[in-house]
Amino acid sequence: MNAFDTMRGELKHSIDQQMLYEENRKELIASISHDLKTPITSIKGYVEGIRDGVASDEEKMDKYLEVIYHKSNDLDKLIDDLFLFSKLDLNRLPFDFKTVSAKRFFEDSGDEIRMDATKQGFEVNFSNALSEEMTLCVDQQQFKRVITNIVSNAVKYSLDKKKIDIAVTASESMITMAIRDYGKGIEAEALERIFEKFYRVDQARNMDIGGSGLGLAIAKQIINRHEGSIRAESVLGEGTTIYIEIGRADINHE
Ligand code: ADP
Repeated sequence: MNAFDTMRGELKHSIDQQMLYEENRKELIASISHDLKTPITSIKGYVEGIRDGVASDEEKMDKYLEVIYHKSNDLDKLIDDLFLFSKLDLNRLPFDFKTVSAKRFFEDSGDEIRMDATKQGFEVNFSNALSEEMTLCVDQQQFKRVITNIVSNAVKYSLDKKKIDIAVTASESMITMAIRDYGKGIEAEALERIFEKFYRVDQARNMDIGGSGLGLAIAKQIINRHEGSIRAESVLGEGTTIYIEIGRADINHE
């Protein structure tokens, strides 16, 4: 191949890349506009209802205010998630990595999950098979955010069986955390896409239960920064398990 062909090839690649970015940006803006618009439309509707005297008695008024409050909260959370995702995406979020005891870190995380989830009526089974010498290099706050996002999904998409099993295990060089729920599960085609930004299995219904569609995309970004991996297994109607795997810091990975 001569120099001209090489140059032409490179140019084409660069144009394709640019078009891909542009497409991505357009999709992002469309999703964001839609997701912001929906709660705002509903808030506006309720405020108009109050203004026009539809909320005639105190009970109705309380109900209207409650909806407005919840929708504003959803909006607030969505905007926080958007900021965070975009900072992660642009690599502008500084990470504060520290080497910590793995056993201790997961025990603390387990305690926090148990506290939150039991408040919501969940039984949490936690097993930690790590030994004292194992360490991890993590940004504890960000890593805990990943765990929180996963557990909050386990709660959100639960059915009657309000139970979460968490198991932390170690292999020669890795540590794996498995978070299993007994909720509605995810069908195979959707399972491949749940870590994509704004992807929701059931678009309309999931918006109602307050999902930004960014929780797992944020989780994936954070785990990538830890040079780890995250994946899901699921059986429809039976439940989902999310696995996070990260390298041990007390082992030389060369
Ligand atoms: P959301 O904010 O909508 O929950 P996520 O990025 O956290 O967004 O998850 C993406 C989608 O994956 C969800 O909308 C939901 O459809 C599906 N999902 C995630 N976790 C679970 C789970 N534990 N059980 C069933 N479905 C899940």
